[in-house]
Amino acid sequence: MKVLGIGCHPDDIEVACAGTLAKYKKLGHEVTVCHVTNGDMGHVEIMPPELREMRIAEAKKAGALAGIKVVTLDIGDLVVYSSDRKQRDAVVEVLRQEQPDVIITHSPNDYMPDHTAVSRLVFDASFAASCLHYNQGLPAAPITPIYYMDTLAGVGFMPTEYVDISDTIELKIEMLECHVSQLKWMRDHDNIDFAEFVRTCARFRGLQCGVQYAEAFTACNVWPRMVPKRMLP
Ligand SMILES: [Zn+2]
Repeated sequence: MKVLGIGCHPDDIEVACAGTLAKYKKLGHEVTVCHVTNGDMGHVEIMPPELREMRIAEAKKAGALAGIKVVTLDIGDLVVYSSDRKQRDAVVEVLRQEQPDVIITHSPNDYMPDHTAVSRLVFDASFAASCLHYNQGLPAAPITPIYYMDTLAGVGFMPTEYVDISDTIELKIEMLECHVSQLKWMRDHDNIDFAEFVRTCARFRGLQCGVQYAEAFTACNVWPRMVPKRMLP
């Protein structure tokens, strides 16, 4: 199976679904991650052009730890708009290149505008990518199940699916720690241990479904994206 995770900022996938993606990999599936933005506004002191390069490198390093292919659409932070046709077409191109069997992306009710815009972009692009006569060129991609990953800190998110990530939690945290530009700043200046934050959320989701650590999802239940089998690992 081909799995495509589409996150907004370069560390979002690690926060919400890296344990699941690593589990897919362990089971022999092919996994690609696409970051929509380059994360260039994610620091107070490091200026955007320098941060852009750092964050693209951090994301590649994180993906490599799990054997995951990483691509970026390299859009700037805070200029993601679901109504922007160029941005939608960029997502269409990734979908057609990757031809995924399942897509994981942000929940429509996540905490900030880039995330909610990516959620909508993916939903819209996934339909457009399936239409043979839309942007002819690459072969059309099938309409696939979409799973929405947990919101930040799980706020306002009622999971319908859980993935046991007890076997991949340490790898997930290791991947998260690759995002030095984010974690170091938060530890030094905000007194926030983001790795502990993420581990706590995974433990909480684990508690809900009776395992040590879990990641939580909801299915995008629209025709014809529902399938009579489990797609998550
Ligand atoms: Zn983000």
